[in-house]
Amino acid sequence: MKELTLKSTIKVAEFSELTDQERKLIEEAKASTYKSYAPYSHFYVGAAILLKNGVIVPGCNQENAAFPSGLCAERSAIFAAGAQYPDQPIMMLAIAERNEKGEFLEEPASPCGSCRQVIIETETRFKQPVRILLYGTKFTYVMDGIKELMPLSFTEF
Ligand SMILES: [Zn+2]
Repeated sequence: MKELTLKSTIKVAEFSELTDQERKLIEEAKASTYKSYAPYSHFYVGAAILLKNGVIVPGCNQENAAFPSGLCAERSAIFAAGAQYPDQPIMMLAIAERNEKGEFLEEPASPCGSCRQVIIETETRFKQPVRILLYGTKFTYVMDGIKELMPLSFTEF
């Protein structure tokens, strides 16, 4: 039997190493955490999307007593962007989280599987990768496309 080894490349950046545009998008994602509705998990997630036309679309997690009815920050932003600017490619997505104490996480958290699947669909739809910034106070993970987090992904046939 052969073995297949899959490789991901994720840059680990200090905040000062990011571009002005990347830092701005992260600041928007951080601000969005304060609009989060997370009375159950107390995990406040914010996202911000940069569209090709320069518009930034924010999102944050929205929980519900019927848990599956809630939605993650990433998807709330992507779907809001799709509803308002259906023809605009998504260039970049930043994500930030605060814990139950209200503190930003030191190390970045990653999108859940459902959000990864939606990001893949977005990349397929616009035929280009989405630059992803996962913010942490110690460092930010930077990757050019969700494929780095989801190899062998399911896409359209
Ligand atoms: Zn998610």
